[in-house]
Amino acid sequence: MNFLPLLEAKRDGYPLTPNQIREMIAAYTQGQIADYQMAAFLMAVCFRGLSRSETRALTLAMRDSGEVLDFPRDRRPLVDKHSTGGVGDKVSLPLTPLLACLGFRVPMISGRGLGLTGGTLDKLDSIPGFQSALPAKRIVRLVQRVGCVICGQTERLAPADKALYALRDVTGTVPSMPLIVASILSKKLAEGLAALVLDVKFGGAALMPTLERGRELARAMVTLGGQCGVRTRALLTAMDAPLGEAAGNWLEVKESVRCLSGQGPADLRELVLACAAHLLVQTRKAKSLPAARRQAAACLASGKPREKWEEMLAAQGADLTQYHRKLALDCTAPAASELAAARAGYVARCDARILGEVIRDLGAGRLTKESVLNYDVGVDRLAKPGARVSAGSVLARVHAPGRARAEAACSRLESAFLVSREPPRSRPLIREVIRMTP
Ligand code: URA
Repeated sequence: MNFLPLLEAKRDGYPLTPNQIREMIAAYTQGQIADYQMAAFLMAVCFRGLSRSETRALTLAMRDSGEVLDFPRDRRPLVDKHSTGGVGDKVSLPLTPLLACLGFRVPMISGRGLGLTGGTLDKLDSIPGFQSALPAKRIVRLVQRVGCVICGQTERLAPADKALYALRDVTGTVPSMPLIVASILSKKLAEGLAALVLDVKFGGAALMPTLERGRELARAMVTLGGQCGVRTRALLTAMDAPLGEAAGNWLEVKESVRCLSGQGPADLRELVLACAAHLLVQTRKAKSLPAARRQAAACLASGKPREKWEEMLAAQGADLTQYHRKLALDCTAPAASELAAARAGYVARCDARILGEVIRDLGAGRLTKESVLNYDVGVDRLAKPGARVSAGSVLARVHAPGRARAEAACSRLESAFLVSREPPRSRPLIREVIRMTP
């Protein structure tokens, strides 16, 4: 394929036809377009954008660059959730077994963290024996039998996205809206879903810095998802403070288990129940959002999702004896240190970006794709905005590879917190819901 004319057309702001886009993605997947030419194309897209029809053609071409999961017909709808990522975002862990218990099938295909935002697969890798790399046939078999899996993108699922994402990551072309839309939706469409709920995060530690940018991304994905036959909704959620009271791989697994046991932080529980409730309404398994939320809360309270979670872990190779032993420990990292409030008042800020940087530097996240993770480090017992604290009470507990690193991390964390005399204005976590227009 002679790619140069397409590249020049996009550079000069001309639209490409769906056929040209299909041919380009097929040729790139087969190694017939060099990375330097594709990198130039991606940069042209960053400046010129893509029209709706170009974005749709790109999404479908990326989906069709590999295999599409093929599930047998079943009365249980296939559903999934995707988050654009945030600090402490562990929603997928409790949500997946909850959805299976609500009568859905959930082929949750997740990713690894890079930079500040943690990845679901990294959290699961902290569970002894757990396997997240599953071939497509095994994904289908497990979903049919257990009702859910959480696994990585297979080599053959949307391979064009895998290659393009790696290229975008090193060429400064990640933030382009149509490229994000095509990347996220191509993978989700390859799962053969009936319904999808998107958690689009905005704020200091999110891919989308403002509510307006988040709304733009959410609208584009909801519209395109619907056009491609998947009932899609998006929740716009704030990501200025971390989600929950723990961040770090194993610490987030522990917090998820608390959520599955009906305890756990209110914001995590709220988001888990909201995602489940929207999917119940989207698939017409519930008539209204309040009724759907009650249904999801009752299911969580029944204890069945926690049993389902362990069934899923065992089906994916986890050693449950070792897992329970680890779960019983208060601390698995070599050292822990607490950051205390200097004065009494209300927590007015708990900055997710600073917290994300501190735990990444402790070894919980990656600076490069090759970074080796430490699953046990992180932060828990976080005091969140609105919490009342007295002088000396705990703002955060740091889990670190050694005492000196724990204390250094506590010092860095001081700037993440602001304690004020007056309680801060409370703002809802879920700021907006973007629905498909009929
Ligand atoms: N997540 C993805 O999968 N792709 C993007 O482009 C951005 C976030």
